[in-house]
This record gives sequence, structure tokens and C-alpha cells, in this order.
Amino acid sequence: MEGKITRDGALQIKRSNVLKAQHCPFTIGEGGLDCGDWCPHFSEPREVRDDEFDRITETGRVTGNTVVTAIDICHNKTLYFESLTDERK
Ligand code: SF4
Repeated sequence: MEGKITRDGALQIKRSNVLKAQHCPFTIGEGGLDCGDWCPHFSEPREVRDDEFDRITETGRVTGNTVVTAIDICHNKTLYFESLTDERK
């Protein structure tokens, strides 16, 4: 997966070749927020080996030692990025 954390801390994920903001489903309606680093459930990105958490991809269980970037979000979900740009740095 490819993504970006914008300068303001908003998470964007590439979908259908376009980086798109990810709306937080818990802030629906006027004044709703995108997912980002202002949320206490949103961890700082960290590098992990891609088999560290028994990650399963569309093509099967990952067994390599490639380093990917992980971000934990709500509901105990972890997002894994082969490519993540962090514009806050
Ligand atoms: S981590 Fe979950 S609750 Fe927090 S902003 Fe993102 S989608 Fe919303």
C-alpha cells in the first residue's frame, strides 16, 4: 500500500492510483474529520519487518524480511505501507 501523511498530519492512501484523504467514520457529517495524527488512536509510523505480525496480503502470507512502515489506528487495526511519505518531517 502507498500513502502519505500530509504536513498537517492527515492520512492519505493511494486508491486507484490517486492519493485520497481517509475520512474518519466516527466523525460523519458537517465538521467531520479525516483520519490523522490528531487522533489518539493513530500511532506514529514505525518500521517493521513485513512478517512481524503474520501479515496476510492478497497474494498470501508474507514471509520475507522487507521493511515496511506500520501505523496503528482504531479497532486494533494496523495499516502497512510499502511506501509512506511523511511530510511532517
Ligand atoms: S484512527 Fe480511527 S478513530 Fe482515529 S481518526 Fe483514524 S479512523 Fe478516526
